[in-house]
Amino acid sequence: MRPTLVDFHCHLDLYPDLGTVISACDARRAATLAVTTTPKAFSRNRHLASKSEYVRVALGLHPQLVEQRANEMDLFERLLPETRYVGEVGLDAGRRFYHSFDAQKSVFRRVLDLCADAGDKILSVHSVRAAKHVLDLIEECLPMGNSTVILHWFTGSAAETRRGVELGCYFSVNERMLATPNGVRVLREIPDHLLLTETDGPFVEKSGKPIEPGDVWAVLSGIAAMRETTAERVQAQVIANLGRVVSHHQDAAP
Ligand code: MN
Repeated sequence: MRPTLVDFHCHLDLYPDLGTVISACDARRAATLAVTTTPKAFSRNRHLASKSEYVRVALGLHPQLVEQRANEMDLFERLLPETRYVGEVGLDAGRRFYHSFDAQKSVFRRVLDLCADAGDKILSVHSVRAAKHVLDLIEECLPMGNSTVILHWFTGSAAETRRGVELGCYFSVNERMLATPNGVRVLREIPDHLLLTETDGPFVEKSGKPIEPGDVWAVLSGIAAMRETTAERVQAQVIANLGRVVSHHQDAAP
């Protein structure tokens, strides 16, 4: 059955009970990308989601964990043929992680090269304070049309957002982005056909509690208000965009 909601970046395995949140996603028909932060976490997620209609599991190595977990890249490479979905991957040049930025760049480059070799991958990419470097590496390593990149919680400039659009990237937007002036500037540059929604739960909180997976109503309403349309229309657009993302094949006509 068609999903009613799209949560294209959620850390289901960081909630207290993974099985429970997978069932909740299915019950609310929330098409959810369960991103992981280390290759070692992938198999358990994959196993528990194996019967889910709406949850897909991504293989990831979070840039904030590269320092400790770069040695899991061989495992990443072995697991990659098992999934079309890759994330959370990317770069983080924030103060706490800048010291590992060179290692992050070599890991992200290897991820992109492996995806380019395999083709037809779908990537959820983190780019905190590193939009330019992320876009440079995508442009360099991933030929247009080879795979699909979704820039998650993008915080670059308006010009960097336009560059992402030119590179064919999608953008998964969460409700926290709409609460910042820069997030609003980013959203203005994202064309309707490249828009997806996410929660980034449990990192995003609502009234002191982690946001529920699939709880994208606030972001749909916020986007609708900015675009002078209804949340239902934005929701339909996002669901259509998801359909395009997952049906993409390397050799499909444009
Ligand atoms: Mn995340």
